[in-house]
Amino acid sequence: MTHSPNSPEARDVAHHLHGYTDARRHEEVGPLVIDRGEGVHVFDIHGKRYLEAMAGLWSVGVGFSEPRLVAAATKQMSRLPFYHTFGHKAQGPVIDLAERLIGLAPVPMSKVHFTNSGSEANDTVMKLLRYRSNALGEPARKTFIARAKGYHGVTLASASLTGLPNNHRSFDLPIAGIRHTMSPHWWREALPGETEEAFATRCADELEALILAEGPETVAAFWAEPVMGAGGVIVPPATYWPKIQTVLQKYGVLLVADEVICGFGRTGNWFGSTTYGMNPDVIVVSKQLSSSYLPISAILINERVYGPIADESKRIGTFGHGFTASGHPVAAAVALENLAIIEERDLIGNVRRVGAHLRARLDALAGHPMIGEIRGVGLIAAAELVIDKPAKTALDVPGRLGGMVAGIMQDKGVISRAMGEAIAFCPPMIITELQVDEMVAVFAA
Ligand code: PLP
Repeated sequence: MTHSPNSPEARDVAHHLHGYTDARRHEEVGPLVIDRGEGVHVFDIHGKRYLEAMAGLWSVGVGFSEPRLVAAATKQMSRLPFYHTFGHKAQGPVIDLAERLIGLAPVPMSKVHFTNSGSEANDTVMKLLRYRSNALGEPARKTFIARAKGYHGVTLASASLTGLPNNHRSFDLPIAGIRHTMSPHWWREALPGETEEAFATRCADELEALILAEGPETVAAFWAEPVMGAGGVIVPPATYWPKIQTVLQKYGVLLVADEVICGFGRTGNWFGSTTYGMNPDVIVVSKQLSSSYLPISAILINERVYGPIADESKRIGTFGHGFTASGHPVAAAVALENLAIIEERDLIGNVRRVGAHLRARLDALAGHPMIGEIRGVGLIAAAELVIDKPAKTALDVPGRLGGMVAGIMQDKGVISRAMGEAIAFCPPMIITELQVDEMVAVFAA
């Protein structure tokens, strides 16, 4: 596609290397340039309106251009635009937000540590847990187990936890000390005739075998999203989490719940850990914490994790970690107002009601020859596309069918995302049933 010289599209192609983009293809097709957002919609620079079926990147929970978040940011920006949290310093918003998160936590948590992205948060947790193992006099306990198709970010360490080939390929990842176990995707991974229950048992057995093979005294933590997002919205079988947690408890392996997508209502409860009865030692949140209006992430740790870290910092004289913008006051003020909106407007109730409606609309398409599986929980769902339904296969180039369908949907005014062949739906939590109908109608067409 040729864009007129000096158009925003041409200038983007000339100067900008995009994440998650084929750079050479971008030189040919150029960007979709988004200009503004309102509620569940965004508008491009030519005035075309799109329903944002992914809430941006699974994140704009309260919708676009919420005036209360603008006001919260403006107020804090005028009062104290920045202050850090190193060396016994704090400011009001960071204190309020830490207290609020401890109050909201689904299981008893001791402390919150702030970071700026999901990747940074997961990377930081790996450092925290190494520090903890050393503090406990267990220096061998440094291995982390994550899952195939899990997504935990893109820094050297968090990309290593991520279990998707494109995040490792040509980056020389994963780094040492990271292992992966199987994804809990029954539809895709089950053996012929295997029930969901038997499959969940096999997932737990495989985890146990990996822990034993590594040596239980070397395994620090198991990392998991309650529902996998970027791996294709993979909802675990009902008995998956109880079985997995039995294994973790048996070997004293900590559980890190990566709630970067699930946190703050997405699955129909404040946390995915509640939806699935998980009892994590560490919880990582970001995205819907501020509805992505500003970058912020948080790590919640329980006493089992905090105690040894605090002792080690006393021994060394400091906890030698922290980012300039950790607990940034403007981001924290926006996050507090965002959480207030989620609560006051009962957006989690809306997730349950409208999520059930979305599921019913998608389930109505399940008999179509090109739909392999419909899956989801709360207001996050996916439709897996196939060409050969019994064989569960699509086109010979992986991701091509999904990419084509997402492209056509975008032309028709709905921005979705293809994760391989799965078309994902994760709209703002304010979406109405009518808007869901519009979104699903475009997909169905
Ligand atoms: N963890 C999960 C579950 C995510 O979905 C993401 C991003 O999509 C991340 C971590 C990484 O977050 P960020 O992109 O803010 O680094």
